[in-house]
Amino acid sequence: LIQLSVPLNFIGFIYREIRQGLTDIEQMFDLLDVQQEVLDKPDAKPLAVASGRVEFRDVQFSYDPNRKILKGVSFEVPAGKTVAIVGPSGAGKSTISRLLFRFYDVQDGAVLIDGQNVRDVTQESLRSAIGMVPQDTVLFNDTVAYNIRYGRVDAEEEEVRRAAELAQIGPFIERLPDGYRTMVGERGLKLSGGEKQRVAIARTILKAPPILILDEATSALDSHTEQEIQAALDLVSKDRTTIVIAHRLSTVISADEIIVLKDGQIAERGTHADLLQQRGLYASMWDRQREATEAEERLRLARESD
Ligand code: ATP
Repeated sequence: LIQLSVPLNFIGFIYREIRQGLTDIEQMFDLLDVQQEVLDKPDAKPLAVASGRVEFRDVQFSYDPNRKILKGVSFEVPAGKTVAIVGPSGAGKSTISRLLFRFYDVQDGAVLIDGQNVRDVTQESLRSAIGMVPQDTVLFNDTVAYNIRYGRVDAEEEEVRRAAELAQIGPFIERLPDGYRTMVGERGLKLSGGEKQRVAIARTILKAPPILILDEATSALDSHTEQEIQAALDLVSKDRTTIVIAHRLSTVISADEIIVLKDGQIAERGTHADLLQQRGLYASMWDRQREATEAEERLRLARESD
């Protein structure tokens, strides 16, 4: 029995690793033909989205039994509002987005959407209600148009164009050798991190989900690109319940509430102004990041003047 359980655990580990990296979970199940860990209840009903209010109620979670990742996390994202989650690396920020998608079940407490426990609804309906702009978008080896249309496969050409424009990537695509028919991905034109993220935003604009998760890129973008992406994100999150997993802090200033996660617990919460005033963890993260940004900017200016 022991001999058998080792490779099974190992397969489980690899499987979980792969699973985290994929945006389209259903497609992967088709590919690997594996048993889903999280199953629909026999009487699961489709999620009925009314306004899109999200609630984490005293959530306790661990990936493996001897290490707790979330230790009683409670917060609410009112319909149409934006909550940003910040905190040191490994605090459990991305775990929150995985639990909202129900890639894992919580050990205690509950994740609710419009009062419905995500455990009680069909996974298909849950995942179609949530849009995700991931840190690093996986592009298919196909045209730019195909990659955007992936958000809603029956979208008209005009809708694809419009989504690209709203995502601030329209002019860039128009300038490509074959425009929207340009092949991208590993075997085609390689897009930069910022360009890929805007493709993901365009996809999400087409999908138009009531709930949105933005997993901000860790990598630094130049300030012009950052502004363009910020404009696109503001647009896509407007009037939509949004959770921002923030790594750079620049996106959080206008959030309705900021939650500072530390060691699996909420250490501080409030608006940007509240938290700066508290002079706690958030304020020191903010100071450190501002210094880093200023140093980067100085370096860039020095390079440009050379
Ligand atoms: P970062 O800012 O670095 O992205 P984070 O706050 O988003 O970090 P999470 O990705 O939520 O952190 O991870 C929280 C903790 O859970 C980390 O210590 C991580 O090592 C652990 N963890 C994440 N995924 C798994 C997994 N599949 N199995 C076991 N542990 C995991």
